[in-house]
Amino acid sequence: MSDTPKIEVLSLRKSFGSNEVLKNISLDVAKGGVVALIGPSGSGKSTLLRCINLLVVPDGGSVRVGDTKFEFGTGARLPDVKTLARFRATTGMVFQHFNLFPHMTTLGNVMEGPVTVRRMPKADAEKLAREQLAKVGLAEKADQYPATLSGGQKQRVAIARALAMEPDVMLFDEATSALDPELVGEVLNVIQQLAAEGMTMVIVTHEIAFAREVADRVVFMRDGVVVEEGPARQVIDNPREAATQAFLSHFH
Ligand code: ADP
Ligand code: MG
Repeated sequence: MSDTPKIEVLSLRKSFGSNEVLKNISLDVAKGGVVALIGPSGSGKSTLLRCINLLVVPDGGSVRVGDTKFEFGTGARLPDVKTLARFRATTGMVFQHFNLFPHMTTLGNVMEGPVTVRRMPKADAEKLAREQLAKVGLAEKADQYPATLSGGQKQRVAIARALAMEPDVMLFDEATSALDPELVGEVLNVIQQLAAEGMTMVIVTHEIAFAREVADRVVFMRDGVVVEEGPARQVIDNPREAATQAFLSHFH
């Protein structure tokens, strides 16, 4: 691991109208590091992830992923559409709801980004897409349509689709929350495998045992601020702050 963090969020602020959702958030993720972001509903976790890949434009502060840094606030120039598209392509995101294209096969879904955003020749995109499907254990489902897949399989296709953009980092927003309990494990296994391969990741999750296992660091957010952060096992097993203790007590 190099000393320069792969993801660096500094003094990030975001309001929706009068609702101040992120209040001066700072967060580092080391290269190859895995940060689990936990906290009650409405604390700003999704907004923070969306600010990291600029699906949501922050009001102030800065976001850097790798060598690309954006500053926000008074006087800052907003990035143009092309710069944004390029940046989002290298910042993979997986959502609770998979949003696969229903009229495309799984292979078609995974090829779509490489062909349309990366302008890859179709044959190359297909090769890459098949590799990513194999990686998530779905090589044999390449020609099936999403409607014929289980929720866990759909989510794995969504992960393959993000990976086909060959992202620098991956962001997961409650990727297993919409799944039946028996399908959660297969998706967590894929995330764990990515962690083992050294992918830099931020994972919003309510799977506390998984966070403890896979994350290096845990960040606990509440009401738009980072209340506590530290090594995963320390924060989960011995939280310092009363708010963290209260939140974690719901999972025992
Ligand atoms: P979490 O993911 O921790 O549940 P969110 O980031 O989704 O929290 O939401 C934090 C707050 O921001 C909530 O009060 C939510 O209603 C508000 N919020 C999120 N997205 C929007 C939006 N696009 N427009 C208005 N308010 C939003
Ligand atoms: Mg959320």
